[in-house]
Amino acid sequence: QILDGEKLRKKLHNTILELKGNIRVFCRVRPLLPNESGAVSYPKSGENIGRGIELMHNGQAYSFTFDKVFDHSASQEHVFIEISQLVQSALDGYKVCIFAYGQTGSGKTHTMMGNPELQDQKGMIPRSLEQIFQASQALNSQGWKYKMQASLLEIYNETIRDLLAVNRTSAHDGGSSKYIIKHDASGNTHVSDLTVVDVTSINEVSSLLRRAAQSRSVGRTHMNEESSRSHCVFTLRIFGVNEGTDQQVQGVLNLIDLAGSERLNKSGATGDRLKETQAINKSLSCLSDVIFSIAKKEEHVPFRNSKLTYLLQPCLGGDSKTLMFVNLSPEASSTGESICSLRFAARVNSCEIGIPRRQTQMRSS
Ligand code: ADP
Ligand code: MG
Repeated sequence: QILDGEKLRKKLHNTILELKGNIRVFCRVRPLLPNESGAVSYPKSGENIGRGIELMHNGQAYSFTFDKVFDHSASQEHVFIEISQLVQSALDGYKVCIFAYGQTGSGKTHTMMGNPELQDQKGMIPRSLEQIFQASQALNSQGWKYKMQASLLEIYNETIRDLLAVNRTSAHDGGSSKYIIKHDASGNTHVSDLTVVDVTSINEVSSLLRRAAQSRSVGRTHMNEESSRSHCVFTLRIFGVNEGTDQQVQGVLNLIDLAGSERLNKSGATGDRLKETQAINKSLSCLSDVIFSIAKKEEHVPFRNSKLTYLLQPCLGGDSKTLMFVNLSPEASSTGESICSLRFAARVNSCEIGIPRRQTQMRSS
């Protein structure tokens, strides 16, 4: 069988992915902000994109290697170039999850959303959507017609909130009996009562994102604080039909701004804060358990242990693709948290190629 150039390229690409596994970890160190001092954690290479990062903590050196490491000078555009192929694969029918993980203030929201109104500040969500709309239009000439649906939700204390609901009275409208997650036999996810919006242009999506940003602030006195304690999940479903060949594809792109990963002792939490922190810690460690056990091809994957992993179940594992950004603050005072984040990421990353790890090491991170 002779494959043409395009098919061969795709086949090669898939073979490479198979060999490397479908999990990638990119590390991004943000610049020091004007009121901060004492930058410490910088990538080894001194280039804006490398693979290694090294930091000193209490006189000890910690060194990590990832698929990519972006330093403070990497622009939103630099970062997007490295994920654009992954984004594109959602149009080919893949299920894709892109996460941002890190302590509060490390640059997760900047990486994922940025400022959608400013060309150079746009994050991965607006850039991904632009690319998908452009590419889908280009494919029209080959007979492809696409339908896209967007939803945006938040998971706070294991409770789902709909960020696109029109009549949101308050951000705390509870609704624990609403938003039941169900997966059908063909791997599609339905969340009852969740607003799902048909989108046909990038302008429509931009106004959705604005609406969501407003909705996130309604009824909240400490918006930044609260948003840092919830996971925010943007989902774009893509249905493609080729009118010439009747071929069909269904892809999903999930872009997830995770809750801040900072540890309990530092936040000195009590009462509601304690409950929040415990819920966050539990769901983040569930996420790492799930990715870890998928990569090790374990029979039982503990998807049901958290709302987030259950929601994303069909988009994790199988032939779906996962990318985790681990965001770091360069401040000296953040080094301890940064090492925790890097350990989390290393656990997610090193499992894919089956590096043997001691049991204790696996459990401690
Ligand atoms: P997080 O969502 O992880 O809590 P943010 O994305 O809100 O963190 O970032 C914290 C602050 O740092 C914000 O003021 C943000 O604009 C700034 N920031 C983060 N990453 C960058 C970056 N790569 N370049 C410039 N400023 C950044
Ligand atoms: Mg944030």
